[in-house]
Amino acid sequence: MAQPALITDTIAPEQRALMFPTLTSDQIARIASHGRVRAVSAGEALIQPGDRSVPVFVVKTGRLNVIRIGGCGEQRLIVIHGPGSFTGEANTLLGRPALMRVEAAEPGETIELAREQMLSLVQNDTEIGDIIMRGYIYRRLQLISTGLGDVVLLGSMHCASTLRVKEFLSRNGHPYQYVDLDKEKDVEAILDRLHVSSKDVPVLICRGSTTLKNPTNEEIARCLGFNASIDSTHLRDVVIVGAGPAGLAAAVYGASEGLDVMVIEANAPGGQAGASSRIENYLGFPLGVSGQELTTRAFNQAQKFGAEIMIAEGAASLQCDSMPYRVKINGDVLVPARTIILAMGAEYRRPPLPNLSRFTGAGVYFNATPMEASLCGAEDVIIVGGGNSAGQAAMFLSKTVRRVYMLVRGESLASMMSRYLIRRIEDSETIEVRTRTEIVGLDGTNHLETVRWRDKNTGREETHAIRHVFMMTGAVPNTAWLGGCIALDEKGFVKTGPSLTQEDLAVRRWPLPRAPQLFETSLPSIFAVGDVRSGSMKRVASAVGEGSTAISLVHQALSG
Ligand SMILES: Cc1cc2nc3c(=O)[nH]c(=O)nc-3n(C[C@H](O)[C@H](O)[C@H](O)COP(=O)(O)OP(=O)(O)OC[C@H]3O[C@@H](n4cnc5c(N)ncnc54)[C@H](O)[C@@H]3O)c2cc1C
Repeated sequence: MAQPALITDTIAPEQRALMFPTLTSDQIARIASHGRVRAVSAGEALIQPGDRSVPVFVVKTGRLNVIRIGGCGEQRLIVIHGPGSFTGEANTLLGRPALMRVEAAEPGETIELAREQMLSLVQNDTEIGDIIMRGYIYRRLQLISTGLGDVVLLGSMHCASTLRVKEFLSRNGHPYQYVDLDKEKDVEAILDRLHVSSKDVPVLICRGSTTLKNPTNEEIARCLGFNASIDSTHLRDVVIVGAGPAGLAAAVYGASEGLDVMVIEANAPGGQAGASSRIENYLGFPLGVSGQELTTRAFNQAQKFGAEIMIAEGAASLQCDSMPYRVKINGDVLVPARTIILAMGAEYRRPPLPNLSRFTGAGVYFNATPMEASLCGAEDVIIVGGGNSAGQAAMFLSKTVRRVYMLVRGESLASMMSRYLIRRIEDSETIEVRTRTEIVGLDGTNHLETVRWRDKNTGREETHAIRHVFMMTGAVPNTAWLGGCIALDEKGFVKTGPSLTQEDLAVRRWPLPRAPQLFETSLPSIFAVGDVRSGSMKRVASAVGEGSTAISLVHQALSG
């Protein structure tokens, strides 16, 4: 049988030049001043899959082979680095465990850079930094598109947890191979081989060795070492809670201005924006940009400057009665912080419908990304909600589905949706808007099969055989974990600066002679930005603006 080709043989020359550039002798000399020269002998293993905080090797002479070890130990040579090439991909930058083995194919000479040396080079030498960052980002995109990584996921698209796991891996930009059990002939034999049953689906095989049955996101993050290199116990200049646009902007500005930054993210980076199929009103993107692309770039940018980002670790409580403040995560771990930026955003409201949680992921969705669209095929879908996110979802889905029913509780779209979206919806032949209409019933066995809705004017109910409902119904802030530490408004959003009353400050014993600054909460040196902040604009651009502005307030707090 023919051997699978090297990655470099399967891509266009322009892409190859971006992914595997050849450094000039001048660039290699500059890199050498940051690291150490290391001779390698034929067959010497330099990196093993699973190694943490691995170094980067720049080849001076000889060749380095990059080998992927499959689940059953099978080996596949995927890349050969010759003189002027360098090893690594996104995990090298992130300090996460290596995905591949790197070994010397012949005797030669390399420059070895420890991860910290690589980070300092990337931050301080723009030309080389750009080459390395670009190479790593394009290599990772290639691994994602070909499913070459350290994860095999066995699942069924009729299972809500499979969707969750796929979404978690995708939104974390982690490459994985998916085995669709709905399409396999002998599912029982596959499951038997892994000593699991159909009740355990989805099954995730992590680095060929650990089999996780219907794992939580936290278990996946742990198994893949997403947080392996982060020391959560040392005192940081700023701890940012939430890695949506606001938190990521704060991380980029904070880390690039020399602050010791840690971000705690309960799920995956990107927040609500990461769930947006197309953001058209963000400055500088006249053709629009997918939320995932925008926030993945921001995530990489934050990492480049040295921010540390904990994934699938939610802040569970805040210790606010003594300094330094402490954010509790992961059971008993307390993360100490000189200052805190709250950027937890908001989540879609879950209408009080019986069966809603039963069908969540099995016909009911809270995101409208290409993944959910692929589940709908050319069927009819319902979108619940009349805001901009509902409008975008309708436009996006209308390109592939047969019919989009938009169910809106109010009289019209005009009060909540941007004019340009209303115009496009009105012009679309695929979208049908039903105002003063709400869902009253969801039914089905393993998957949603029928939806009942009511016209609020006439009281008439209709049942439709529709298998896909997108809930885009306004958001509630993620502030329950703050306990009574911080003043919130009547809807639970965090009050800051001028919106804090004398009473708010008296109740929380504001200790300073000055008033809270813009974005400062009722506790000194704790700031709130983005959608979680009372009175904020609830837009990507405003979240990014607030996150970056908060960093100047952090500087003042640290120097005060
Ligand atoms: C489908 C959709 C489409 C949209 N389209 C647009 C658009 O086109 N243009 C536009 O300007 N805006 C758009 N928006 C709104 C925009 O996405 C939000 O305004 C923006 O994402 C807010 O950013 P944020 O960082 O404040 O909060 P979020 O994006 O909500 O991010 C908050 C993050 O905090 C995390 N978190 C929550 N609780 C905790 C905790 N306890 N511990 C740790 N982490 C926690 C969450 O997991 C999340 O990742 C859209 C929103 C949606 C849902």
